[in-house]
Amino acid sequence: MEKPKESERVLRAVELAKKAHEGQFRKTGEPYIVHPMAVKKILEEWGMDEDTIIAGVLHDTVEDTSVTLDDIRKEFGESVAFLVDGVTKLSTARAGMRDIDTYLPETKDNFLRLLIALGADIRVLIIKLADRLHNIRTLSALPPDKQKKIAKETLEVFAPLADRLNMGQLRVEMSDLAFKYVDPKRYDYLKNLIEEHNRQAAKSLKKIEGEISEALKKEKIKFELSGRVKSIYSLHKKMAKHNQNINEIYDLTALRIIVEDVTTCYLVLGVIHSLYTPMEGRVKDYIAMPKQNGYQSIHTTVITEDKRVVEFQIRTREMHEYAERGLAASFYYNEQKVTENYKAGKIEHLPTNLLWITELQQTAAKLREGKKVDLEKLKLNLFADKIFVYTPKGDIVDLPKGSLPLDFAYRLHSEIGDHVVGVKINGKMSNLNKKLEQGDIVEILTSKNQTPKESWLSKIFTSHARAKLLHRLNEKEHQEQGKKK
Ligand code: MN
Repeated sequence: MEKPKESERVLRAVELAKKAHEGQFRKTGEPYIVHPMAVKKILEEWGMDEDTIIAGVLHDTVEDTSVTLDDIRKEFGESVAFLVDGVTKLSTARAGMRDIDTYLPETKDNFLRLLIALGADIRVLIIKLADRLHNIRTLSALPPDKQKKIAKETLEVFAPLADRLNMGQLRVEMSDLAFKYVDPKRYDYLKNLIEEHNRQAAKSLKKIEGEISEALKKEKIKFELSGRVKSIYSLHKKMAKHNQNINEIYDLTALRIIVEDVTTCYLVLGVIHSLYTPMEGRVKDYIAMPKQNGYQSIHTTVITEDKRVVEFQIRTREMHEYAERGLAASFYYNEQKVTENYKAGKIEHLPTNLLWITELQQTAAKLREGKKVDLEKLKLNLFADKIFVYTPKGDIVDLPKGSLPLDFAYRLHSEIGDHVVGVKINGKMSNLNKKLEQGDIVEILTSKNQTPKESWLSKIFTSHARAKLLHRLNEKEHQEQGKKK
């Protein structure tokens, strides 16, 4: 990609960040500014827009230096301020949570949801991903317990997020870097296994490449042929699925063929099948039926004359960009196109599963401009009306905006709800009428002798808690009537 000339705004952001982080150092011993500069470089490589790059440069300033959001707004405008604010909020929310090892399963899911919720502008998530990528690249400087914690979270939250956004290259790099820290022995074992396999396959792979190239040239097809390296972490997951039997892993050796258009993809498939025997049930047409995250390609596994199993992935240039860079690619290639098509009411050309991102972005943009938005219509904006609060142990509970302490208590467990005597919010005694706010740490005080009260009905917001309370009140009434008889 051609490097665009550094704009004056970006240079100003770099100057500001340098000054702000002056005297701060990373665990690696380097000046802190190395980190935001690395994030900047990653975002540039992903082809992100200028506002995102500037926000990337400044992403740690509000949290860690004397620079304020207002300063950023004045200097660089509303959009950059919004992005920096989103990244800051994410890390504040994150700080309130405990180690992922002790998360409840639903909390893990919630963290991913939290990322999406607070990243109402998807670019916030992309900055966060770039931030995490650089942190995991430089993880060796941290003490071992921190390494494991961050690596695990990367595997379980950030790599899946990258996958959700179809950022294949990022997913592979992140998960392999992280896996090395989570299970170093296993990592080394599988790495050797793959290398050994590749050594053995090298010779016949060369032959196959030659045969394919010749056949495609004969058909006058323009193409690009390359080997694809399998990620160690995805091999690890596949091995678990196949009882650790490496002979059942059919995509250890894979070749990728990139062509000009969709029709040619099918033509290439025909050429491959005329040369080698396709394995039954192994032709997958993700062009006609894209994966959940919008991934498109044709896959086929064949057996060569010398009994090698080889997977082919056939796709167009555009599909390739999507598969490698996902959402980021859509910024680079499609932002103009998408906006224009969207205005014209034509949005079909985007893979259907990426549409939610476009919708999310457009809604976020409207909200920022203070325009009215029909949230009902936007089925994927699931979290706009939600707040995320924490238990003192750091588990996340998502509740509708307007929820009160009793809603929280009944959400944890009816046993807790039934016995509430008081509530502490952010460490301070509070009352049951106090509306909960985003990020509150809520501690419910209970007593065995407490019973549900009818007066609580006015201190409840969610229908879930109301239903539970009514149920208990009815039971209580029946019991009391029973006693009278
Ligand atoms: Mn950072």
